[in-house]
Amino acid sequence: MKEKHNTHPVMDAHVLIFPLPLQGPINSMLKLAELLCLRQINVTVVITQHIQRRLFDSSAIQTYMETNYGGAFRFESIPDGLSEEHPRTIREFSALLASLSAVAPPILQQMVSVREISCIVAEGIFSFASDIAGEIGVPLFYFDTYSACALWANMCLPQLIQAGELPFKDDNLDETIRNAPGMEGIIRRRDLPSLCRGIDLEDPEIKLLLKQAHLMPLSQGIILNTFHQLDSSLLSHMFKLFPNIYAIGPLHTLLQTQTSQNTSSSILPEDRSCISWLDKQPSKSVVYVSIGSLALMTKDQFLEFWYGLVNSGSRFLLVQRPGSVAGLDDGIPEELLEGAGGRGCVVSWAPQQEVLDHRAVGGFLTHCGWNSILESVVAGKPMICWPHHFDQQVNSRYVGEVWKVGLDMKDSCDRVVVEKMVREVMELRKNEFLERARQQSEAARSSVGEGGSSAKDLDRLIDDIKNMKLLPKHH
Ligand code: UDP
Repeated sequence: MKEKHNTHPVMDAHVLIFPLPLQGPINSMLKLAELLCLRQINVTVVITQHIQRRLFDSSAIQTYMETNYGGAFRFESIPDGLSEEHPRTIREFSALLASLSAVAPPILQQMVSVREISCIVAEGIFSFASDIAGEIGVPLFYFDTYSACALWANMCLPQLIQAGELPFKDDNLDETIRNAPGMEGIIRRRDLPSLCRGIDLEDPEIKLLLKQAHLMPLSQGIILNTFHQLDSSLLSHMFKLFPNIYAIGPLHTLLQTQTSQNTSSSILPEDRSCISWLDKQPSKSVVYVSIGSLALMTKDQFLEFWYGLVNSGSRFLLVQRPGSVAGLDDGIPEELLEGAGGRGCVVSWAPQQEVLDHRAVGGFLTHCGWNSILESVVAGKPMICWPHHFDQQVNSRYVGEVWKVGLDMKDSCDRVVVEKMVREVMELRKNEFLERARQQSEAARSSVGEGGSSAKDLDRLIDDIKNMKLLPKHH
């Protein structure tokens, strides 16, 4: 039964939350914000004006305005320093990060002082948050909204460089990595975060990651969207560096156990027609295919996916996000759709959690964004992984080799491979994968239930936030 928390706040604690302005981090941070509001903590979520416009256009922002948690929840928007027309695609991520890192600090500093903020929760990559917290004397928690395995790989970067494993000495991407404790025998060069390939130690993004590795252990604590049972072997290593970890995931499920209010943080309008299509399909017969909110494909890659799916004989629901496939701006040509023989459904953006939870979906062909993986884990759906960028290379290795709830297609985009993997997950090894996925889903759900590890870590985080004292200023 859902326990409903009192939403009439009696508040002193006021948390400022600052997510990366991308769909995945926004989703996780907003879930955290709601969980805090439900426990009588004031929250100001700082988003960029660009994200605010998109949340407004998708109607998501209205759901927060309506819910508003007795006035405890508020959005504040700031510029990201880029022009309105700037495309802000994954290709320009470095520019966005650099611009935001220049524009945001003085605005946030002012906000923290004026609003009497009692602590800051910032995305792990925002190293400037440490300066603000130190300057004003406000405690800082870093919330790394990506996976624990990717965070740990990033934390190991300094020692990989020192040991001479990075930059790679040759082109052999299958060489195993030796100097990442807890990951020995698991990850190869190709499984390291994408920017390790062709790494330039002078690259500003690498410098930022190295700075992150230095600063994160100095913060008040680290919040992670994972649960102890999923990442136990890594967490035991991480505790040595970060004694105060709050593993409170899967956040979307934790929130569902604590409130029946239904907010949406989607920055694109959802096409719900796919739900009625799914309603007409047999149980566990459909592969859901999505590459998330940022990943891009060439038209050739898209066609390999398409023919692989069609040739597999499986039914499929495919998300073709506007602008995600170069050269297919007008949608999928009619002859391709006809060739799918009615077994395919295409939408521009799906209500993903609901899709994954649907009884007709039997597998997920995913780019391995961390939110997508967690949503699939909770729904008990096996995965076929086609990682694209950032943490996704590490995540997909863990799906295939550690959690064993799917197959990793990394670095290949070939219709024969797509067909083979879809057949394996949807037919040949279906029961094996479904059984493991079911066990993992059960573990995820019990971690957020009463007495579960994530529920307990959230209680501890909330107590710590409420008891937070201002720190002495660093001068
Ligand atoms: N998503 C969605 N509809 C879609 C595709 C994705 O609502 O058609 C959501 C998905 O549920 C997830 C988020 O977008 O919560 C994507 O985040 P993720 O971390 O998986 O990947 P990113 O988009 O950051 O690469």
